[in-house]
Amino acid sequence: MLWQPSLPDAYTRMAPDDLARAIGVRRREIGEKLVILGHHYQTDEVIRHADHTGDSLKLSQIAAGLAKERTPANPLNYVVFCGVHFMAESADMLTPDEVAVILPDLSAGCSMADMAQYDDTVEAWDSIHAALREQGWRGRIIPITYVNSSAAIKAFVGEHGGACCTSSNAREVLRWALRGGDGKATDDDRILFLPDQHLGRNTAVKEGIDVAIHSCVYDPRLARAGESFGGATPEQVFAAKVILWAGHCSVHKLFRPEHCDQVRAQDAREGTRTTILVHPECCKEVVDKADLDGSTEFIIRTIREAAPGSRWAVGTETHLVNRIAREAAPRGVHVRMLSDCQCLCTTMYRIDEPHLLWVLDNLAGKFDGRGGREGRPRIVNQIKVPPKVREQALLALDRMLTLATRPAGVEMRMATVD
Ligand code: SF4
Repeated sequence: MLWQPSLPDAYTRMAPDDLARAIGVRRREIGEKLVILGHHYQTDEVIRHADHTGDSLKLSQIAAGLAKERTPANPLNYVVFCGVHFMAESADMLTPDEVAVILPDLSAGCSMADMAQYDDTVEAWDSIHAALREQGWRGRIIPITYVNSSAAIKAFVGEHGGACCTSSNAREVLRWALRGGDGKATDDDRILFLPDQHLGRNTAVKEGIDVAIHSCVYDPRLARAGESFGGATPEQVFAAKVILWAGHCSVHKLFRPEHCDQVRAQDAREGTRTTILVHPECCKEVVDKADLDGSTEFIIRTIREAAPGSRWAVGTETHLVNRIAREAAPRGVHVRMLSDCQCLCTTMYRIDEPHLLWVLDNLAGKFDGRGGREGRPRIVNQIKVPPKVREQALLALDRMLTLATRPAGVEMRMATVD
């Protein structure tokens, strides 16, 4: 995680209405050179300033599209990404060099992305190859990384013939890898899925893989503690079609199978029917008990299309669920969190109005601790991916984008919904 210096007190002491007004003033001063992107998991206070909202890849693609549309007379210079670090990296990689991508708080990282470090990945790659070769294996390992990973991991995957995936297109990307990726498939091929074991496992199940036998987990913490193959046995590594990195989302892991049981029990008591809808970053036991699972965009679309009178229990980040619940209520659609736990992304939560105003004050050349003195415009908190990393990471992103022909969020397991 990067370190974010404290803001001057003048920012943290401002009242919410004053912050919102000041952000509006700065936006108008900076004009069309600026676009503000807001991830779905942001608070309402931040989302109200966003020009576009969406999931991480959609927002990066929007930034890339806007940069392309603009003319030299009306350029896009600044993208303020109200999300987390890996998202800002993706936006930087997909936009031209002239566009500065800014993360309002540098400490807004992603615990899942941090679970896959470059050195650990190289160590895993070498030791898994060695373990397999000792057993007479002559195949290839095709790496896949969820976009919720650092640019360095995306670059590793790109360099080794693999692809990125999102929660919307993970099945297509896994199928591509099972067909041999850009090469010819052999029975010896293996997949290394980084960094979210749950998305990897849930996707493998949908592709008909018996994950009890044909998957294993590589835990880099165990590898660092001296356990070979990250805690897996050589036989498990050999039998595994999909080797899952031991990463997870600290938000979605809070949903437990018993939360689904509680919803079912409440329905039985009250004679209601609640559809359980979860994100595939939840563990397999939760996804198995849910009626539907799919990406953030799929969840939003499903609730928007829900029939009046229907009831939903949704297993994803709190701010998003509260927002879609408010939007759905006037249509008579009842939406609640799957559990009462505080399932919020604490790193995303670091992005707030004071930090947003601080970066805009700097861009407008009005930063002096809000005393009002004019100065030179400054870009603060710019996220810049080194050229070599960018080149290789783009290989992985491009392979995914070439495959992603289907619209977002297609992982439905249930034909009808009450
Ligand atoms: S919700 Fe989970 S995966 Fe998404 S940014 Fe937060 S910690 Fe990372």
